[in-house]
Amino acid sequence: MRLSQLFTKTSKTVPADETARNAQLLIQAGYVYKVMAGVYAYTPLGLSVLENIKQIVREEMNAIGGQELIMTSLQRQETWETTGRWDDETVDVWFKTKLQDGTELGLAWSHEEIIVEMMKQHIHSYRDMPVQVYQFQTKLRNELRAKSGIMRGREFVMKDMYSFNVDAEQHEIFYNRSIEAYKKVYERLGLDDDTYVTFAAGGAFTEFSHEFQTICEAGEDFIYVNREKGVAVNEEVMTDENLAKLGVTRDELTKVKSAEVGNIFNFGTEKCETMGLFFTDESGKQIPVHLGSYGIGVTRLMGVIAEKMADDRGLVWPAAIAPARVHLISIGEDDEATKLYDALTQAGISVIYDDRDVRAGQKFADADLLGMPHRVVISKKTLEQNSVEYKARTQSDSELIALDKIKDLV
Ligand code: ATP
Ligand code: MG
Repeated sequence: MRLSQLFTKTSKTVPADETARNAQLLIQAGYVYKVMAGVYAYTPLGLSVLENIKQIVREEMNAIGGQELIMTSLQRQETWETTGRWDDETVDVWFKTKLQDGTELGLAWSHEEIIVEMMKQHIHSYRDMPVQVYQFQTKLRNELRAKSGIMRGREFVMKDMYSFNVDAEQHEIFYNRSIEAYKKVYERLGLDDDTYVTFAAGGAFTEFSHEFQTICEAGEDFIYVNREKGVAVNEEVMTDENLAKLGVTRDELTKVKSAEVGNIFNFGTEKCETMGLFFTDESGKQIPVHLGSYGIGVTRLMGVIAEKMADDRGLVWPAAIAPARVHLISIGEDDEATKLYDALTQAGISVIYDDRDVRAGQKFADADLLGMPHRVVISKKTLEQNSVEYKARTQSDSELIALDKIKDLV
């Protein structure tokens, strides 16, 4: 990717209407475009990060047998009425609209009921399970507050997965595999040190549900953690009785700010019973399906990573999700830089090549703002020594590296 061709431009001005650091940086660097509060478009660089995060999540969901599909944003009123969740009092984030004939429609804030309804066409027998499906989907929620940049959107991307099982035992097997898969996702995103499987309030069927909370100053939640024991507890389950069950005491826990980057939930059989999703067991009996749901906040994760990893010079992307591995800067040596650009690209290394006709100082500042993991500079001075100047984004000093060594280094 040549920066001279990229339509987005960087900006030195911090957007006045953004208090969240993630949104400020992402807008200034040209990763997102703010349409209104809580509603962001993803421009090529931002889309690239988003797709990279999605691909990691996709690989881990496929690895535990998830089947990808995509549901719709327009939803039927009747579907949600079966569980009493069409009501605006019960669900306070609904956006709704109408067909020309007056029929009311809901705009997808969740797909739990919709997917259960679809499965009534496909699950009939105990032989049809276990099965689990997932999607990457734009969710529309009329959130009261949207002040955390892309960490809380009124339109945002979620990965949501649903498991369908014959009983609690079969459910539990997948539920536990999903916890392991989620841990791998956060590990691959470089968040594992600060991400906790957190005990939260359960539904009618389980004592606890599990949230995945990442310690983050810009988060909207508080959790109580004990690093040594690897235990984290949500505020809502901080009773002495619960803590005893989890083997910790109140004074062993530290209160920290966090962002919920995922959650998993055991619905038991209630929703399927209400919605009429039954299967025939081995003895011919009709039994309600056991449902689980598993969310990951894809756009929120991008915001959390931006927040946590950025420094005072700009964004810092982990290599696993950066739009490119290398940020190549030419200072008056476009021919040599183009050669290196081609060589790296042909070796399968993604490169952002700053071939713009702007001052060196601006190129350096933009390289820091954009946040690729490796910066490589070619100038007359470096070429005299058959070298390039190399700096990792997280380092402050650069070093000279021989031209023929740089490919291996990055
Ligand atoms: P929160 O408590 O933050 O509102 P939630 O309990 O409503 O989250 P779910 O409906 O279970 O969340 O959604 C699954 C995941 O989607 C969450 O764990 C979070 O990572 C993400 N998410 C939820 N709401 C938003 C939002 N408004 N903007 C961005 N991501 C969100
Ligand atoms: Mg919510």
